[in-house]
Amino acid sequence: MKERIGIIGGGIVGSTAAYYLSRAGYRVILFDEGIGQATKAAAGIINPWFSLRRNKPWYFLVSQGAEFYRQFMADLEQDGFNDGNIFQVDGALMIRRSDKRYTKDLSQADEKRPDSPSIGEVKTVQASDLLPLLNEDIKATYVEGGGRVDGEALITSLHQAIKHFGGQIIHEKAQFNIDKSIITIESNSTKETVDRLLLSAGAWLPELLAPHGYETDIRPQKGQLYYLQDNAWENKHWPVVMPPGTADIIPFNNGTIIIGATHEDDQGYDLSIDEAKLQQLTEEVRQIAPQLANYSIVKTKVGTRAHTSNFDILAGKVPEMDHVWAVSGLGSSGLTSGPYLGYQWSELIQHGHSTIDPQSFPIENHIIRI
Ligand SMILES: Cc1cc2nc3c(=O)[nH]c(=O)nc-3n(C[C@H](O)[C@H](O)[C@H](O)COP(=O)(O)OP(=O)(O)OC[C@H]3O[C@@H](n4cnc5c(N)ncnc54)[C@H](O)[C@@H]3O)c2cc1C
Repeated sequence: MKERIGIIGGGIVGSTAAYYLSRAGYRVILFDEGIGQATKAAAGIINPWFSLRRNKPWYFLVSQGAEFYRQFMADLEQDGFNDGNIFQVDGALMIRRSDKRYTKDLSQADEKRPDSPSIGEVKTVQASDLLPLLNEDIKATYVEGGGRVDGEALITSLHQAIKHFGGQIIHEKAQFNIDKSIITIESNSTKETVDRLLLSAGAWLPELLAPHGYETDIRPQKGQLYYLQDNAWENKHWPVVMPPGTADIIPFNNGTIIIGATHEDDQGYDLSIDEAKLQQLTEEVRQIAPQLANYSIVKTKVGTRAHTSNFDILAGKVPEMDHVWAVSGLGSSGLTSGPYLGYQWSELIQHGHSTIDPQSFPIENHIIRI
């Protein structure tokens, strides 16, 4: 009989791992409290290729992650859990501060395309030709392969698929214990023994590891976004817009446009809406798409991202614990890297190897036994 797999944390990382392992016949039990989950709050952009970050392990994960989305969605579709609205590729418009950056985008695209064919065509355009809500004098780099994900829709589909393949999901807070090499997970309603355990608890990883004598370098970052709605925007297949500030414009084909997101490092795990911060987003949007600034907000979302102190992703086996792995610290690009990380952990369990090189992700820098 295949191993019993425990997963604590059912955001994008834990749910993807649970999906692939239950699909492969493993006996999976996933615990997810869900409060403040980053994934459900995010309506995210998948367009990682042009970042100025020079962190190679990070770039490896986000570029592989963007490629992996195509397989991921095909797998969900084959299993009957993708209605086509989870991940849409209608391109991305990147508005730059200087003309030099437009030239650089074109050369970067040529350099990166051999390893990242999903980039597709890249060209400098007048932005309003592709999204008429934008001011006419704005230039942008258009990236054909840029996409967007509805985080909540993805989690709903993954959880349905996990149950379909016989996995169990417990929507409760859990903790774990290891006694003479036996791993148990306990929540209010159940206590389970598992052979292997993944801690994919996002910003809450420190509180899972603290009782075991570990200090974990993960800090919470609050993110807020809001929704606008107009039936006239339905089925337009508009690209997502990434201006220089934080107020991305993310059109969905159901007539929704999402504006976001904020990045607040001083609010801990607070989940209340801060109207002043939303207003700042609106003022940024007004600079490039004045019409949008006049719409009323129809919905808001708040979630808590996880960051390490140097913004590295934390992934690997927990030091001095057998059969326990942790993944966290995905930050602002976790919708892009998360599915790939979850999938690679499932590969490790199934085949004993994955593409995640432990030397590129020194987990002992972020999880320290005290
Ligand atoms: C507003 C916003 C916008 C974003 N936009 C983008 C974007 O455009 N592009 C992009 O790539 N990324 C984006 N992100 C980042 C991305 O959403 C996150 O990095 C990613 O979703 C993190 O996934 P995760 O699985 O690690 O954690 P989470 O999604 O936070 O999931 C962790 C889960 O673990 C559960 N949990 C914790 N402790 C326990 C416990 N003890 N027992 C049971 N359950 C527990 C939590 O309740 C939660 O449900 C955005 C995030 C936010 C908040």
